[in-house]
Amino acid sequence: MNSITGKTRVCGIIGDPIEHTMSPAMHNAAFEALGLDYVYLPFHVRREELACAINGMRALNIVGLNVTIPHKVDVIPLLDKLDAMAERVKAVNTVVNENGVLTGYNTDAPGFLQALRSRSIEPEGKKIVVLGAGGAAKGVSFILAEAGADLAILNRTLSRAEELASQIAPYYQNKVKAMTLSEENLKQALDGANVLVNNTSVGMVPEVDQTPVPARLLKSGMTVFDIVYNPLETRLLGEAKAAGACTIDGLDMLVWQGVLAFEKFTGRKAPFEIMKEAATKALANEK
Ligand code: NAP
Repeated sequence: MNSITGKTRVCGIIGDPIEHTMSPAMHNAAFEALGLDYVYLPFHVRREELACAINGMRALNIVGLNVTIPHKVDVIPLLDKLDAMAERVKAVNTVVNENGVLTGYNTDAPGFLQALRSRSIEPEGKKIVVLGAGGAAKGVSFILAEAGADLAILNRTLSRAEELASQIAPYYQNKVKAMTLSEENLKQALDGANVLVNNTSVGMVPEVDQTPVPARLLKSGMTVFDIVYNPLETRLLGEAKAAGACTIDGLDMLVWQGVLAFEKFTGRKAPFEIMKEAATKALANEK
């Protein structure tokens, strides 16, 4: 930070609230490790100030911004271009400024896929059970369909799962089934599926004693990915581990979306391990 000069390039994240973000820790650690003259800052931007903030990005020549809740959808009409995944998912978490031209990307969905592939799990030809139909489930479902998986989407509110399945259908030929989240449907969906992804907020602080899946349905041979990262080991992951299943926590997805954003901001390969370490420390400091 002491070496900020007139040439330092500025990146950041906009959201409301923003105090709990781990992105500045991850990105600044990566800039330092690679010796890049960049800095990454948090910006608290309220809904009514979003358009001013995006114009400000142009005016101040901020080279890259991450976008978090509640702006991922509302930012879209303020941008000049969108990449294909952002267009399909209709959510942007990364904006790159090239000479005043703002392009929106979605690195959450590919970040999830990278996290899965980093454990040597290739979705193509697999049946995958997706829990939830909110913002995160949407990106995860689209990228899994793009990667060639058939999906069973289970959500507390069936109509949202059905809506998500119908949004995927025009783009991909995969089988996508929508179901209510219940033990009976889970049992049926898990038959022949060996990957389960929790995208609901069930099990997140403060309700850490909750789980979306009864422990009796968890088996060895399954991979259970919980995208919740607070806590890192949710009740679902603890019970999946105890059942002998392979588990992946939400931190990997968070770090991978940051890695992909970093590469768009700088054009350099991101140091995954350094970013993961910084995010892990930032998460521990939250407690
Ligand atoms: P969201 O849009 O609000 O969606 C929440 C989802 O959880 C909905 O499907 C909702 O079902 C379901 N849900 C909530 N309470 C429930 C309950 N008691 N029983 C059953 N289902 C319940 O939230 P989001 O943005 O998708 O985020 C979901 C989780 O993912 C959060 O914990 C968030 O922190 C985490 N996340 C992690 C990453 C990462 O990088 N690791 C990225 C994004 C999000 P209904 O439709 O029925 O309401």
